[in-house]
Amino acid sequence: MARIVMKFGGTSVGDCDRIKNVARRVKSEFDRGNEVIVVLSAMSGVTNQLVDYCKQIAPLHDAREYDVVVSTGEQVTIGLLAMALHELGVPARSWVGWQVPVRTDGAHGKARIESIGTEALTQCMADGQVAVVAGFQGIGPEDRVTTLGRGGSDTSAVALAAALKADRCDIYTDVDGVYTTDPRIVAKARKLDKITYEEMLELASLGAKVLQTRSVEMAMKYRVRVQVLSSFVEAPGTLVCDEDEIVEKELVSGIAYSRDEAKITLVKVDDQPGVAAAIFGPLTDANINVDMIVQNVSEDGTHTDLTFTVAKSDLERAIKVLTEKTDLKYGRLVPDSNVVKISVIGMGMRSHAGVAQKMFKTLADKSINILLISTSEIKVSVLISDDYTELALRALHSAYGLDTK
Ligand code: ASP
Ligand code: MG
Repeated sequence: MARIVMKFGGTSVGDCDRIKNVARRVKSEFDRGNEVIVVLSAMSGVTNQLVDYCKQIAPLHDAREYDVVVSTGEQVTIGLLAMALHELGVPARSWVGWQVPVRTDGAHGKARIESIGTEALTQCMADGQVAVVAGFQGIGPEDRVTTLGRGGSDTSAVALAAALKADRCDIYTDVDGVYTTDPRIVAKARKLDKITYEEMLELASLGAKVLQTRSVEMAMKYRVRVQVLSSFVEAPGTLVCDEDEIVEKELVSGIAYSRDEAKITLVKVDDQPGVAAAIFGPLTDANINVDMIVQNVSEDGTHTDLTFTVAKSDLERAIKVLTEKTDLKYGRLVPDSNVVKISVIGMGMRSHAGVAQKMFKTLADKSINILLISTSEIKVSVLISDDYTELALRALHSAYGLDTK
């Protein structure tokens, strides 16, 4: 007997027929003698609709009431799934966040889980029932409903798996696993059997929208084995696991891209101590994240150019902050939002040289100009013109030997 958390995303519970399909998948795990905890999202589109209602009532609404509204989508799906399971003769009970309880901090709209009570759910399973838990929600320090940020039901599932010491956390979604790159762009993309937590974390934060980043961080911290698989086809998915579990290690496991980047160049910045702090300080104060940064060597020793990237959605605000700060001395501000960040990711990079060089050479052979470069232990990223996204992804995918045979 194993203890399994099964999490189903919005498209998997998108209508009543799909909820009945989920009930069948749950029943088959249950019939194998397993203890099953199901975690659900709202029906696809529902949370968006609820967020939209809040905006229509008041653009600057109270975050505590926002949570009351947007957490309701999951309450509908857990009740419906419990009923669908009853129809199949499977004993089941639904649980909203406070009933478990899933205790969080008070950061409404993006709360973090602090602890999970295991007694009630353990009893539920001991009584031979499937526990159907609302994802995305918890209860804050003032006993008010909180939500965990968009996509947060992945995090609910992993947290429950950790707290209940589940043997596996299966995340059912509308894709059948994690791919070497976006299969909509590169037809030869391959589904990975296994990927390490570290690599998945890079892929998740770079916009491969399979799992919420926080859920991967949590899985890594508590060593929860997470499987990403499809709720529509019956086939094994991709296992996110410890490096030791992966026998055949690839140099590069995946290539991610993010179109959510914009570049800002400050031309002719004074080349003296304190300048970077003076520029990035106000951006930090305005809650604007800076990602890649390059400062050129100055030619004359008095001025230099400083280039960096911010999220595309922050570009206008960043420009405003930098132009309104009158004590910053620079010649011109040049924004560019027609850029994409492409990253190659792989644990193998830690022990093998030449991964970055292969990337530069491959792009050079296609005459693609690199605007910015940044590296970390298991990742090399370049910023290039958005016009070359497809070309670059395909060329790199074959250069690193990732194409399907
Ligand atoms: N329903 C929530 C959302 O759409 C949580 C989730 O699906 O993970 O963000
Ligand atoms: Mg999701």
